[in-house]
Amino acid sequence: MIRKAIRQNRKSKIIVTGCYAQSDYEDLQKIEGISLIAGNGEKNDILQQLEKIDFHDTVIRVKPAKYLKKYDNILKNKSSSLHTRAWLKIQDGCNRFCTYCKVPYVRGPARSRSVEDVLEEVSNLSSNGVKEVVLAGINLGTYGRDIDKGKTNLAKLISLISNFKGIKRIRLSSIELIDIDAELLNIFKNCSKFCHHLHIPLQSGDNKILNLMNRPYDTSIFYQKISLIKETIPDIAITTDIMVGFPNEDSNSFSKTVNFARKICFAKIHVFQYSNRKECLAALLPNKVDNRTKKERSKKLQELSKELFYDFQKKFLNSIAEILVEDEIKDKEGRIYSRGITSNYIKIIIPDFIGKKGEIVSVKLNKISSNYVVSSVQTLLG
Ligand code: SF4
Repeated sequence: MIRKAIRQNRKSKIIVTGCYAQSDYEDLQKIEGISLIAGNGEKNDILQQLEKIDFHDTVIRVKPAKYLKKYDNILKNKSSSLHTRAWLKIQDGCNRFCTYCKVPYVRGPARSRSVEDVLEEVSNLSSNGVKEVVLAGINLGTYGRDIDKGKTNLAKLISLISNFKGIKRIRLSSIELIDIDAELLNIFKNCSKFCHHLHIPLQSGDNKILNLMNRPYDTSIFYQKISLIKETIPDIAITTDIMVGFPNEDSNSFSKTVNFARKICFAKIHVFQYSNRKECLAALLPNKVDNRTKKERSKKLQELSKELFYDFQKKFLNSIAEILVEDEIKDKEGRIYSRGITSNYIKIIIPDFIGKKGEIVSVKLNKISSNYVVSSVQTLLG
């Protein structure tokens, strides 16, 4: 992709950034035509750098990940580009070392953005019409452990954000199972603005593989916690990440994963194929899985994900839900539909309705149609 970008944009300065730039800048240096290689800590200076750099030199701005200690690389939402929903980064880095993952090596240690800074941005988002914030981070559940002498945490932050009148919904991007404690579960249950959707990575349904991955749970702990969450919030959507083709994953391990995913009834599964990372311990493991098998397993899980998502949506047919109107679309015949999502992440379209962006609308879920549930308006809630 980088070489293609260079070929197709001879008159442009080509900048490479992100985790690959952070970890492999020496290899990238050998590709002719890159003007700037910016590591994870340098991304936000790109615009300033652009003016200084020349086409013909490769400038490297990569600070080793272990020095990325301060929460100093925040890219704030710009008011000119805001939608109804905004991603709000509150945390970066990770201190866990899952054996397949290079994030701790390229993103540095876990560090949290200060509460004041987060709230300032929430206030800015709210005054610019944002109604839903999605709290994002590499390891969201560890938020607060490195600041304010441990007096703050994710539960307290959610509670503070919920005080903003203009913010109607708070969603989490992803959270590790072991970080969901009683305090957090209590907020999930009692904060009326908290979206009933949790993305909790499973990675494998076989304890042997979980152990090799250095994941901090086994399937029985996972099952118990998910059961508790579902008892507490019955309409919740639990989505997950599963990795296929980790070394030593045989057909028996994979069957266990498929069966376990069915048992949990995930609403959706994001499937990833294992790939070797030279920094990571899993690269040293024997019994690698071949690419063809990885592809087949990936396809099977994607099919399962579709089936589970269909079943999940079906449970809510004929019920009433609130959606946040995000935009509108037209079909080939020129018919207009308003679009939005429910708190538990079901995508909704409402035929022949032009809702105001950011408006909360109560709808009846009528039927499933490919990626959407077709609904009709019950009440406008403002
Ligand atoms: S998979 Fe997640 S928890 Fe594990 S090391 Fe990577 S970022 Fe950290």
